[in-house]
Amino acid sequence: FDWWRTNNLQGYAPICLAHEDFYIRRLYHRIQDCFGRPISSAPDAWVDVVERVSNDNNKTLKRTTKTSRCLNLGSYNYLGFGSFDEYCTPRVIESLKKFSASTCSSRVDAGTTSVHAELEECVAKYVGQPAAIVCGMGYATNSAIIPVLIGKGGLIISDSLNHTSIVNGARGSGATIRVFQHNTPSHLEKVLKEQIAEGQPRTHRPWKKIIVVVEGIYSMEGEICHLPEIVSICKKYKAYVYLDEAHSIGAIGKTGRGVCELLGVDTADIDIMMGTFTKSFGSCGGYIAGSKDLIQYLKHHCPAHLYATSISTPSAQQIISAIQVILGEDGSNRGAQKLARIRENSNFFRAELQKMGFEVLGDNDSPVMPIMLYNPAKIPAFSRECLRENLAVVVVGFPATPLLLARARICISASHSREDLIKALQVISKAGDLTGIKYFPAAPKKQ
Ligand code: PMP
Repeated sequence: FDWWRTNNLQGYAPICLAHEDFYIRRLYHRIQDCFGRPISSAPDAWVDVVERVSNDNNKTLKRTTKTSRCLNLGSYNYLGFGSFDEYCTPRVIESLKKFSASTCSSRVDAGTTSVHAELEECVAKYVGQPAAIVCGMGYATNSAIIPVLIGKGGLIISDSLNHTSIVNGARGSGATIRVFQHNTPSHLEKVLKEQIAEGQPRTHRPWKKIIVVVEGIYSMEGEICHLPEIVSICKKYKAYVYLDEAHSIGAIGKTGRGVCELLGVDTADIDIMMGTFTKSFGSCGGYIAGSKDLIQYLKHHCPAHLYATSISTPSAQQIISAIQVILGEDGSNRGAQKLARIRENSNFFRAELQKMGFEVLGDNDSPVMPIMLYNPAKIPAFSRECLRENLAVVVVGFPATPLLLARARICISASHSREDLIKALQVISKAGDLTGIKYFPAAPKKQ
C-alpha cells in the first residue's frame, strides 16, 4: 500500500478483498486437488485416478471429472499384494463366501473365528516373538495399546518424528513424554541420563516404567532406525523398547522380517513389536507381538480388543496367505523374488533420482523416498505436472511435515517393472525442472 491507498482504504478494501477471496479460493482448490483424489481400481503398479478438471471457463471454478490410468508411486503396496494375487485372492474370496465381510462382533464376544486364532499364531511366528494380538486398525493399535502399557507415573521417550498414532497413544496414556532427536541414539542416551542413573534398578527409580518408542522405517523420512545402538542404550538403562514396523515389516530383510532381520538385532531384545498389515501384506489392521504374559495382559485390558469389532475374516485370510507366499509355503519362490525385486527397485530408483539432482531423504533398501520440495506452493505444481503425464504421486505438507519442508513421498513396489520406473524417472525429472526443485551443490572452487 502507498499512502494514497492507505488513506483511501475504506474505498479500496472491498475491491482488494474480493480479489483476494477469488485467489484464495483458487489456491484452496489447487491444494485440495492434490489430496484425496479418488482411485477407481486396486492400488497396483498402475491405478485409475479420478481427476477433477476445470471446465473451459476458469472463473466459475466448476469442476468435472476425468479418469486417467496412472503409474502409481503413491501406495504402500510394497510387495504387490494390494492387487490380485494368484495364491491370496482365491483364498480371500473363499473366506468371504464362508465368513462374510464382517464379524459383526468384538473378539471377546463372537468375533473370533478360527482364522483369527491362526493369524495371531502365524504373525507371532513370522516376527519372531512368542505371541501376538491383532487389531482391526493399524492406527488404533498404537493409539489404543500404548495407554494400556503405560500410564501416570511412567515415562515415554519418543523419537521426534514418530507417527501421529504413537503421539496420540502417548498423550492419551497420561505418562510423562520426553522427545529425543530423530534417530539419534546419543541424544536418546542424554535424555535417559537426565531421568535416571545408569544401571539403577527398576525398583529404585522415579518412574514406574520407561518405554522408548521408535519406528523401523520412518514414513515421512524413509530412514531406517539405528536399532542396534538404541537397543544397547535401552539395555544399559533398563528401558523397554517399543518398535513400530508399519513400513518395515514385509518390506526389508532377507525374508521380509523387517529391521531386526536387516540389522541383525535379536527379536528377544525388542519388548514390544508393533506393525500394520496395510502395507506389505495388502490388507488392513495391526498387531502387537511380545512375550506370552504381555499379550495375555493386552487381551484382557485393551479396549480395542474388548470393545471394537474384530478384523474382518477375509482381511485376516489375506494376511495369512501373504505371509505364506513370503515364506515360500505356497510352494513357489515368488515371495523371495518379490523381496529381491523391491530392494533392487528401491536402490535403482533412489540412485537415479540422486543422479538427476533431487534431494532425496532416507536410506538404501528403504522403499520410502521423499523428494524435497520445501516450498509448500510447489505441492500443487509438482503433483499436477506429474498427473499431467499420468504419474500418481503423494505430496505431503504441513501439518504432516514442518511448513517449509514439503515433499513428494515416493513409495516403490515390487510390482513396478524396470520400464515403469524409467518412465516415472523421466516424468519426475521434467516436473523437477518445471518446479525448480533440483539441487546441484556448487562445484568446488579452483585453487
Ligand atoms: N504407524 C506408522 C509408522 C504409520 O506410518 C502408520 C500409517 N501409515 C500407522 C502406524 C497406522 O497404520 P494404518 O494405516 O494401518 O492404520
